[in-house]
Amino acid sequence: MRPIDLPYGRQTVDDADLAAVIEALRATNLTCGPRVTEFESHLAARVEAGYASACSSGTAALHLVYAGLGFGPGDEIITTPITFSATAAAAYYVGASVRFADVDPRTGNLTAASVEPLITPRTKAIVAVHLGGLPVDLDDLAALAKARGIHLIEDACHALGATYRGRPVGSGPGVATVFSFHPVKHITTAEGGAVVTHDAELKRRVDKLRQHGVERDPTRMHETPAGPWAYEVQELGFNYRLSDLQCALGITQLAKLDRFVARRRELAARYRIELAARFGDGPDAPVQAPVELDDRTSAYHLFAAAIDFERFGATRARVATGLAAAGIGTQVHYIPLIDHPLHATRCPGERDRARPGTATYYARTLSLPLFPAMTDADVGRVVHALHQVLGVPQ
Ligand SMILES: *Cc1c(COP(=O)(O)O)cnc(C)c1O
Repeated sequence: MRPIDLPYGRQTVDDADLAAVIEALRATNLTCGPRVTEFESHLAARVEAGYASACSSGTAALHLVYAGLGFGPGDEIITTPITFSATAAAAYYVGASVRFADVDPRTGNLTAASVEPLITPRTKAIVAVHLGGLPVDLDDLAALAKARGIHLIEDACHALGATYRGRPVGSGPGVATVFSFHPVKHITTAEGGAVVTHDAELKRRVDKLRQHGVERDPTRMHETPAGPWAYEVQELGFNYRLSDLQCALGITQLAKLDRFVARRRELAARYRIELAARFGDGPDAPVQAPVELDDRTSAYHLFAAAIDFERFGATRARVATGLAAAGIGTQVHYIPLIDHPLHATRCPGERDRARPGTATYYARTLSLPLFPAMTDADVGRVVHALHQVLGVPQ
């Protein structure tokens, strides 16, 4: 079988990235050095947040936010079933539980209407995922969270570089926004993540938990410091630091973010044209490009097409296998979390609720290759292969 030469996503690393990492390797501090704070300040400035804290992964970032806001046993968060496992798993890390709200069948995103009925006295936060890079209805969800006295947290692991009503994702209204720098995301530090916030106290909590729960500020210590070496381990924290090598890469990658996102959006526009030419357009077309909305721009982490497989007498498995035979990688984002054994076991009360939007979204979604180094001809090749594998609609 032909190897996959067009995966669904892939990093773009150039000579400037390599040079920056080599230089960082020669520096005095391989971790906890100046590149960490430099990366954090560039990231905060880029997304118009007050503060950024770099950490070892997007999953660690979620854990730091949930722990930093004090969530624990008996608390609940509400999130979407159409997300990566970590959005929910990080709640289990702190002993909290998860309720899964239904999603808009066209975007796969949470809506205020689907979240509201699930709020209970135990609910601490709505965790919104900007699926594929398209921001959720942030104003509606923020208004709901405010009215009910709970937090809005943004899992923006798909949405670095996206905008909502003219402002970058990360600038709020969520109390904290989380990013991932895994190689398949918009920019990479190999592994890595970040929390951004406008809340100085939350920034302090996150930084402390990232570093073993250590306090070095004498005004916040329980005892008078015995000497310049003194610090106190005040609570159970973690080692979730991101190294200077990784932050060096993050700095040079972040400088390319606008180009990366612009190229992703160009490729998405190309897909839209090619798909319409092969399969027609309008709401009845059997293959739909991702939804775009006038008041927000998608960062296009994914190009998740909605395919009415039944109309082609096809199955998603057959289509994915057929594309793989042509060297084209695809992925399903996502199997609804509640269908996984972990989440079903952790959230027993969540299994049986009907989620018609989730069912519709999941039945049709298939992520086609999208990454900045793709050419327009690559897009043509994917759509041609998709057309061959699907055949004609019935
Ligand atoms: C990638 C991702 C994460 C986790 O990020 P890691 O850096 O892989 O730990 C969390 N949530 C979503 C929606 C993601 O896509």
